[in-house]
Amino acid sequence: MSSANSITLDWEGSPVPCVEGDTVLDALLRAGIPVPHSSCLVQARSGPVPAAAQQGLKESLRAQNYLLACLCRPEQDLSLAPPGQGVRITALLTERDWLSDTVLRVRLAPDESLGHRPGQYLTLFRPDGLGRSYSIAGPELELHVRRIPGGAMSNWLAEAQPGQAVTLQGPAGDCFYTPGDPTQPLLLAGAGTGLAPLYGILHDALGQGHQGPIWLYHGALNERGLYLTDELQALAAQHRNFEYRPALLDRDGPLPEVISRDHPKLTGWRGFVCGDPTIVNLLRKRLFLGGMASRAISADAFLPATLK
Ligand SMILES: Cc1cc2nc3c(=O)[nH]c(=O)nc-3n(C[C@H](O)[C@H](O)[C@H](O)COP(=O)(O)OP(=O)(O)OC[C@H]3O[C@@H](n4cnc5c(N)ncnc54)[C@H](O)[C@@H]3O)c2cc1C
Repeated sequence: MSSANSITLDWEGSPVPCVEGDTVLDALLRAGIPVPHSSCLVQARSGPVPAAAQQGLKESLRAQNYLLACLCRPEQDLSLAPPGQGVRITALLTERDWLSDTVLRVRLAPDESLGHRPGQYLTLFRPDGLGRSYSIAGPELELHVRRIPGGAMSNWLAEAQPGQAVTLQGPAGDCFYTPGDPTQPLLLAGAGTGLAPLYGILHDALGQGHQGPIWLYHGALNERGLYLTDELQALAAQHRNFEYRPALLDRDGPLPEVISRDHPKLTGWRGFVCGDPTIVNLLRKRLFLGGMASRAISADAFLPATLK
């Protein structure tokens, strides 16, 4: 509890005194807490975040109550945590169906809300503790999991039965829609299950009434690599501002080239690129060379667990 001239911060459950005029960084360092990020980024769990403490941060970070500890002079008690921790909860697998030969849709019912935005990711743990990250494809916990030959988690999920209990940690990541300028053109691009976060972001943007054009590119080697095509075509027929572009390597060429043929200039656009790390890097470079500002590009690269 604060007195007239002292404020108490809560750092992951431990009280940290903060003298009036101190920054959060001063108070944490004085209490011997190493701030875990070179940019001194921390996340407020509760309490008012002073606007000055969010100066220069991306909109997606501001929306998740991130703040810069070195700029934050709190006026009231604040509860804080290191970035990207999320909560840990249990969930039951409720449904499992195949969206293509290799992509499994998994639906989960959590014990309590994860408080996620569609497009963010969670880490799913099996009862034996093995954990893997998956993007969240909607407001409910829906995952698109590619079955990888020899893959420990993807094969386990492919065999798991409804009613199976798992542990989830999250949410994490800043690949999600924030209204910002509702007329700004949006470009969503990814290959394989990179569609999962893009599908979530698309639904969120349409649901929040985004008015600018939205182009979704889904890359695959061939027709068999595509999924949810009927749903996406139906959405494109329903929404005049939404264009769905499946891009097949064996028919249309590499995805970055397909995009630059359609959109040689991307100045003023906002981009989301997700999926295989090599493709994400190529796409990010293509969007930047097309004129998209680097801070307007959100990316999630699906790094295999061992390379994380
Ligand atoms: C932020 C983030 C979000 C992710 N979102 C998704 C998602 O929405 N959907 C999804 O399907 N995956 C996603 N992934 C990847 C996922 O976390 C796992 O890496 C993947 O499911 C493989 O796990 P596994 O246990 O089945 O395979 P493992 O047992 O970990 O790996 C088995 C073998 O396959 C190789 N391997 C692992 N991943 C790949 C790959 N992608 N391509 C080729 N070889 C691979 C490994 O190097 C290893 O040799 C995401 C990863 C990250 C970091």
